[in-house]
Amino acid sequence: MPVQTYNYLLRDKDGKDYRDLAVYKAAGGYKAVLKAHAMGSEAIIAEVKTASIRGRGGAGFPAGVKWGFVPKDTNKPKYLVVNADEGEPGTFKDNYYLSQDPHRLLEGCIITAFALDIHTVYIYVRGEFIHQIATLDKAIADCHKAGILGKDVLGTKFALEIHTHSGAGAYICGEETALLESLEGKPGQPRLKPPFPAVVGAFGCPTVINNVETIASVPLAIEHGGAWFAGLGVERDGGTRIVGVSGHVKRPGLFEVGVGANMKDVIYELAGGILEDRPLKAVIPGGSSCPVMTPDEINVPMTIDAIRDAGSMLGTCGIIVMAEGTCMVRALARLSHFYAHESCGQCTPCREGTGWMARIIDDIEAGRARQGDLDTLVEIADQIGGNTICALGDAASLPVQSFLQKFRADFQAHIDHGGCPFDGPLPRWTRP
Ligand code: SF4
Repeated sequence: MPVQTYNYLLRDKDGKDYRDLAVYKAAGGYKAVLKAHAMGSEAIIAEVKTASIRGRGGAGFPAGVKWGFVPKDTNKPKYLVVNADEGEPGTFKDNYYLSQDPHRLLEGCIITAFALDIHTVYIYVRGEFIHQIATLDKAIADCHKAGILGKDVLGTKFALEIHTHSGAGAYICGEETALLESLEGKPGQPRLKPPFPAVVGAFGCPTVINNVETIASVPLAIEHGGAWFAGLGVERDGGTRIVGVSGHVKRPGLFEVGVGANMKDVIYELAGGILEDRPLKAVIPGGSSCPVMTPDEINVPMTIDAIRDAGSMLGTCGIIVMAEGTCMVRALARLSHFYAHESCGQCTPCREGTGWMARIIDDIEAGRARQGDLDTLVEIADQIGGNTICALGDAASLPVQSFLQKFRADFQAHIDHGGCPFDGPLPRWTRP
């Protein structure tokens, strides 16, 4: 059966410009705000729990449960921070909302603010997204003019301000506590936890941090009901998700599918299959930090639980496809240099280990490695994983462990061959 696609979230194919407030409203936009206000806080949270919206940023934590951690009886201000620091290689879904459908995100922010009695929202946007920030700022200004934001949101007497905040190009600021540090004007370095942001977040106050797509899904759950939204997905993981497919496929791009769509079908049907009809070699299912999968492992529903059971992670649903002929050493070198560059340097295993791994992989690619280097590489990765303040340590070690486990023959061939047996000059990131 063909993979079912949807256009609830991904609406760019109908030719309308949803950045225009009038167009957004004509399609039913901002109606869910008034419905949510009439429902009240408890009912909104209950509806989001019924919808089974799990975080779309990678961790997959249920949104309604996360909201429940925010203390109700605090006399401090509470904040919603939207994580729009989309920097995970292979991931480009939040970019769609920011650049094409910003009001969907703003509407989700308003409903979330109602639910948690929040009056200030920060949207932390990846620094390279200059045009997207301008689009978002214009949408916010349009909402102010229309009385959708400000002292009296749509006549409800509820005051709400939404601010965009630009990052400065550091991948680590996608980690939620590094993001908060950066938002506060400090270097973006992850905090030790606990305390968790729900209790001590931005400026020392209770803070909910959600990914763009998570918040953008909230209006749908309110407008159509949590049960309807949940029914688009699978049990405990509701709704639709925007899946990005990149790499060696005929039709790279974004596709909206129900949670639980089969990953192999997404690659072969929606993304058109492998370039030049070459055999498939490898798939990274959810952004570059997820363990790599082999072709015989990808016939699996795209749910957090199913992909975990298959030995990887659903992550951000950013699928990277590699065809036969790809040098897995070179691919891993690319990723390892990225993580070494983005380590914030607080933890010794991550600071030292990520650079060490990148240098060894360079040596393998350039024909300088010795037989024992493969085991050294795995040992370093094993010592980083689980021994660091934040998940970047794991993100750097999981690809190394999985590439070595599943494609060791490629690595061994480099040592036996005295260099890369695949065609092409050394990539520019490889140390000469
Ligand atoms: Fe920084 Fe790496 Fe430690 Fe995370 S794991 S806090 S990025 S040094």
